[in-house]
Amino acid sequence: MKYISCESPRHLALKTTERPKVEDGNVLLLVKYVGICGTDLHAYQGNQPFFSYPRILGHELATEILDTGFTHADLTPGSRMVLIPYINCQKCVSCRAGKTNCCQNLKVLGVHTDGGMQEIISVPERLLIPANDLSLEEIAIVEPLSIGAHALRRSQVKNNETIIVMGCGPIGIGIIQLAKYIGAKVIAMDTNDYRLSLAKDKFGADVVVNALQSPLDHILEVTEGQLSHAIFDATGNKKAMEGGIDFMMHGGRYILVGLTNGPLTFHHPAIHAKETTLLCSRNATKEDFEFVMRVLREKKFNTESYITKKVPSQSILTDFDSWSSPDSKDIKVLTRW
Ligand SMILES: [Zn+2]
Ligand SMILES: [Zn+2]
Repeated sequence: MKYISCESPRHLALKTTERPKVEDGNVLLLVKYVGICGTDLHAYQGNQPFFSYPRILGHELATEILDTGFTHADLTPGSRMVLIPYINCQKCVSCRAGKTNCCQNLKVLGVHTDGGMQEIISVPERLLIPANDLSLEEIAIVEPLSIGAHALRRSQVKNNETIIVMGCGPIGIGIIQLAKYIGAKVIAMDTNDYRLSLAKDKFGADVVVNALQSPLDHILEVTEGQLSHAIFDATGNKKAMEGGIDFMMHGGRYILVGLTNGPLTFHHPAIHAKETTLLCSRNATKEDFEFVMRVLREKKFNTESYITKKVPSQSILTDFDSWSSPDSKDIKVLTRW
C-alpha cells in the first residue's frame, strides 16, 4: 500500500509498504480523506517541538472499516468512522479523571506516532465513533472542530455572553460557528480582511475587528464599554496572546487554544485587577467529538465554506508549501486517499 512520509524537514516522499495485519483490539481502516492542519505544516517546516523523523503525518481523518478480526454490529466493513486521533494511556491521573485529552503519556497520531497519510491504518477500536449518518467530508472536519468545541466547553460560554475569537484560521472559524450554535454573540478578530469577511458572511460572526486598526476602541464601542466575557486565542501568536487580555471584562475568562513555542508575559496588576481566569485548552475528548457530530448532523455548520479544497493525495508532494502560506485563501484542504 501507498503512504507519504515526512522524511526530514521539507522532505516528503511517496513510499510503499506491506498492508498492516489485524491485531488484537485494533481495527483496520481505509483512509478516505486526510485534512491538512497547521500541526502537519509545522512538522514539515521543522518547527514542531518534540517531533522526530521520519513520520507519517495526518490526524484529521475520514475513514471506513476495512477489517476488524471480530464481530461488532457497528463496525462492519464499509462503515464510516470518526477517529479520535489521541492515543491515551488509560492509566495516568488525567486519564483516570476523564481528562484523556491531556493524558501524561499522550500519543497523537501523525505527531508522536504514525498518522493517516497512508491507504490503510490500524488503530485501537476504542478511538472510533461510528458515523454512517455523516458524509466523509463532514467526518474529516470533526477533529479540528472538536478543538474549538473543547475550548468552548472549558470556558463555559453561555448564550447571553459576548466572546472574542482572535484568529480566523480553521480553529478560530470553528469556535466562531460553534459559539453561534450555543447562542453567544461573537466578535471575530484577525489581521486579514479576507478572513474577517469569511467569518462574518459564511460563519455567522456578529462583528469583525481588524486587529491592526485600533481594536480596543472598536470593541469598547460594540460592547458599550463592557468588553468581552471570554477571549479565545486561536492565533498562537505571542503578541496577540499577550495583548488579548485588554479586551476582556473584569471577571472574564481568557482561553489559550493556539500554541506558541516560548514564554508569555502578562502585566500582573492588569490580570489581577480583572481576576482573570486563565485557561489552556488542549485537544478534545469524546464528548466534544460527539457534540460536533451533533452540530454537523443538524446541518448547523457551514461545511461547504469550511472545506476550501479537495485534492488527490499526490498533491501533498507538490503543493504542501502553498497551503502553509499566511496569505493562503484556504481554510481546510482535504486530501483524497
Ligand atoms: Zn489538526
Ligand atoms: Zn493517560
